[in-house]
Amino acid sequence: MPSQIAHLLCATTSTSSGAPSRGPLAAGAQGPDLFYHNQRRRPTSIQYGTLMHRRGYGSVTGEMVAYAVAQGHAPSHPIGSYIAGFVSHAILDRRLHPYINYRSGWPVPGREETRRYRSMHAFLERLIDVALLKEVRGIAPNTYDFYGTLSTFGTAESIPTEWVAMMYAGLSGAYERARDDARLLERIRNAWMDAAGYYQFTGHVDGEYLEAGLAREEHGTVRPGWLSIIHPPEVPEDLDVLNLQHAEWTHPCSSKRRSTESVIDMFSDACEESSRACAAVFNIWTEMLESGGNCETDRSAAISAIATTVGDHNLSDGRPRKRPCRPRHMDPLPLPELQDRIRDSIRRGDGGLLSSG
Ligand SMILES: [Zn+2]
Repeated sequence: MPSQIAHLLCATTSTSSGAPSRGPLAAGAQGPDLFYHNQRRRPTSIQYGTLMHRRGYGSVTGEMVAYAVAQGHAPSHPIGSYIAGFVSHAILDRRLHPYINYRSGWPVPGREETRRYRSMHAFLERLIDVALLKEVRGIAPNTYDFYGTLSTFGTAESIPTEWVAMMYAGLSGAYERARDDARLLERIRNAWMDAAGYYQFTGHVDGEYLEAGLAREEHGTVRPGWLSIIHPPEVPEDLDVLNLQHAEWTHPCSSKRRSTESVIDMFSDACEESSRACAAVFNIWTEMLESGGNCETDRSAAISAIATTVGDHNLSDGRPRKRPCRPRHMDPLPLPELQDRIRDSIRRGDGGLLSSG
């Protein structure tokens, strides 16, 4: 997954013709990633983040729309902005993940030299956020107030109750495991509180923040992976994370699928596709409202039409198959080395900046 900024930028582009509510759009654009941020509170909801990335995403969307219809909400309701963001998450994830996996690598059991790729996937996503933001808006991450936007929808202290009810309906409608889960409601609330806390805590990363983080790493009170889940102040010019030079890369599952596309190319395609998918979902939604939403056959048909539009296949490899394929090919960028350079810069008092050396 690209990270929170790329997802919000794409959701914003996809809905530019409507009048979206920014807070719910920002939350929806994070899709199931909110559940991955549930790292502290128990019972955890991480398994639902994994499940939604694996299968059934379109069905969850359909069930959430059916929930909104049952409440009498039209697509113009703030919940509509949430759903639009949610749809765009899947499409951008599917488009960018093969590139991200290939260029960030992963630890392969038994291959010691790949151990250092742990958490580089998350790091590359943050680097793409920073580079994309500079490319399309000309600004640095600290001037893009993601948390400020998200917090108009909800914070760790003020959980958006309608979101909880809608997510409950979405998960329990789409997955048997969720229907049988007596603690589902608690998990959903925990996902929100931890995710909001994470976005708040990592929303503004300056020199002081980085020095404190590195000091904690050196004292062993935080794992080295902390550097992978924050936005560094810049991406050095010598690292082409967006593939603007159009170097050839390979789909991690198939050496026959090669591409020279840049992240900008893929991002633009994905946002256009999201725009069409959101419009189609909103049309089905409006028809459901007009038909009164009472007939069970109509309801099921509408949910499956939404599932088909958004896609129930996995968000990892972009292939329309039930399960993700097995990745084999990688050619990672020097990301662990970049983290070492950032650490050196922090020690020098340069606040993570690398341009001067
Ligand atoms: Zn994702």
